[in-house]
Amino acid sequence: MPTVTECVNCGSKENLTHFSIKNNGMKCESCSKIDKSVIRVSEATLYAIKYIIMAPAKKLFSFSIPESSIEELRLIAKVYLEEKLEKTFKFDKIV
Ligand SMILES: [Zn+2]
Repeated sequence: MPTVTECVNCGSKENLTHFSIKNNGMKCESCSKIDKSVIRVSEATLYAIKYIIMAPAKKLFSFSIPESSIEELRLIAKVYLEEKLEKTFKFDKIV
């Protein structure tokens, strides 16, 4: 499970701006600068990620996010799964 409530590098709970594929979790603005595997995520997308991780499976798809977050979420889900499964996934219809 990825770390999403604090920076995986320094433990800061603020300015969590990027998701690190390498370290499997969120990073703050300064820590993300020295990590090449990070993907920028907006606040709305981070909220959606937290929801997905913490929500019971039954309620998993009963939330809405802004249009702009869908692409970010799609990208993170794809890269994350590829990394975890160590293969390329065909993932056209995640949302
Ligand atoms: Zn940090």
